[in-house]
Amino acid sequence: TMSTETFEFQVEARQLLQLMIHSVYSNKDVFLRELVSNASDALDKLRLAALRDDAPGADVSDLHIEIDIDAESRTLTVRDNGIGMSYDEVGRLIGTIANSGTAKFAQELREAQEEAGAEGLIGQFGVGFYSGFMVADEMTLLTRRAGENHGTRWSSRGEGTYTLARVDDAPQGTSVTLHLKPADADDQLHDYTAEWTIREIVKRYSDFITWPIRLVPKAASGDTGGEDAAQDGDAPESAGTASAPETLNSMKALWARSRDEVSDDEYHELYKHISHDWREPLETVRLQAEGTFEYQALLFLPSHAPHDLYNQNYQRGVQLYVKRVFIMDDCEALLPPYLRFVKGVVDAADLSLNVSREILQQDRHIRMMQRRLTKKVVSTVKDMMTSAPDRYATFWREFGAVLKEGLLSDSDNRDTLLAVSSFATTHSEDEPTTLKGYLERMKDGQEAVYYLTGESRQSIENSPHMEAFRAKGIEVLLLTDPVDEVWVDAVGEFEGKPLRSVAKGEVHLGGQDDEKADAEREKQGEEFAGLVGWMKEQLAEEVKEVRLSSRLTVSPACIVSDAHDLTPALENMYRAMGQ
Ligand code: ADP
Ligand code: MG
Repeated sequence: TMSTETFEFQVEARQLLQLMIHSVYSNKDVFLRELVSNASDALDKLRLAALRDDAPGADVSDLHIEIDIDAESRTLTVRDNGIGMSYDEVGRLIGTIANSGTAKFAQELREAQEEAGAEGLIGQFGVGFYSGFMVADEMTLLTRRAGENHGTRWSSRGEGTYTLARVDDAPQGTSVTLHLKPADADDQLHDYTAEWTIREIVKRYSDFITWPIRLVPKAASGDTGGEDAAQDGDAPESAGTASAPETLNSMKALWARSRDEVSDDEYHELYKHISHDWREPLETVRLQAEGTFEYQALLFLPSHAPHDLYNQNYQRGVQLYVKRVFIMDDCEALLPPYLRFVKGVVDAADLSLNVSREILQQDRHIRMMQRRLTKKVVSTVKDMMTSAPDRYATFWREFGAVLKEGLLSDSDNRDTLLAVSSFATTHSEDEPTTLKGYLERMKDGQEAVYYLTGESRQSIENSPHMEAFRAKGIEVLLLTDPVDEVWVDAVGEFEGKPLRSVAKGEVHLGGQDDEKADAEREKQGEEFAGLVGWMKEQLAEEVKEVRLSSRLTVSPACIVSDAHDLTPALENMYRAMGQ
């Protein structure tokens, strides 16, 4: 062992550790799920590298996960012989908040601490590796990257610093050893040195993991201590007496099993494994395609939008497997961008294990698969509207703005997407409406579905354009998402009724007194011809036309676009883009 260096955690990581150590998060068992999940990822990565001849010197002969418990020293070790980490990687991945290291997270953490409500945050972000500190007062990680000669030991008591040391004799892969807190440290702490506890937790949270999770038999783990991985020469002594290691999980891929064999909880655990989200998904979508191009899909609609959903580099897409072999994360070819929040697994039978992102983008079968998966997701949302209105409402609040991008880009599903869309409306302060709902409330003789776009509900409601509509009791949709500016033009109509902005062109509000109003307006037109003519001259540089308005009841004047002009907001947007 060479020299040991001590480092400080970055600020957010330190806050997070404090949160873990003093956690009141009631379900502490999930630390094991997190460590197993990381081990499984590491095995996936190694197998894939080997398949691509990208792991010279790596041993891929018996890839597995091991759990080793020692009641005497009160340690629990989760060990894998996967890809491992280099010295630099350990510092980068374990010393920082790898998956949640964002400004947003740090900010929410501070706010939550101020409100002393931080426990909910653990569930929201999913803090992976660090969750070990819920049950341990010290964690040690020993790792060697497959193919490399030297290993690294990382160790921390979770109190602001960690140590790193280069070591010579680490086995390939990673072992994480937890020095368990005293059993009576808190009520919710189970005895993690009891075999049956471990069996139960693995079965509950990690059964579907496709790698064997083995419980190291008591006798075989001997006196090597929990901290170090078993040395190569150690086993023979006890091999004669020890029972074979017991595999704790069934390893059955959930997506390949029939619906009635799998519980909702099992689906949810798979979701948590692949999404790194600790919360339950909103909906599970299954699809099994047979025939010339066979595949199985298990997709999930999350219950919360991730905070980086609108970032350029948001990692979108679902995992791609080929015949149970993990091929890639974030396979963007499988779903269109407007469904980028969907998580899940697609397992295709007839793809090459070497398939690349570029090839996938052009593959005819993949395109067909994308179309089918898209239809399935959209129809699931539609079903939710009627069968689970509350969940649909949550879905729409979280993902509606993204889904509306599909109104522009996906003409195949446009009608269904329109049907599942909800909009804020003058009809109700807080209940959004569907277009169908709007049509049912339309006044006799009303020709169009009226809407107005703007920055907020309030700014739209204060617009002078709204006056006549309010006076006549005509419902107006209040569209405040940036994407609304764009799709309304692309879509044009719903069930034969045109979508019309109340800010564009002339408005004919219809109704029985329309004729009377027309006559009245003609009379007024003659009366004010002089004034209008004078105004037109004065404003010749500024406006195309000056008209008497039928849309105002209180304001003296307002500016109106031509029916086919850009709205002011869109004009601004294009100007900002330099066009
Ligand atoms: P996440 O799994 O969401 O990325 P974690 O905190 O669980 O976040 O892990 C952080 C990172 O540390 C992982 O992304 C991975 O790169 C690395 N890591 C953790 N455990 C292992 C392991 N057993 N083998 C290899 N790398 C690991
Ligand atoms: Mg993890």
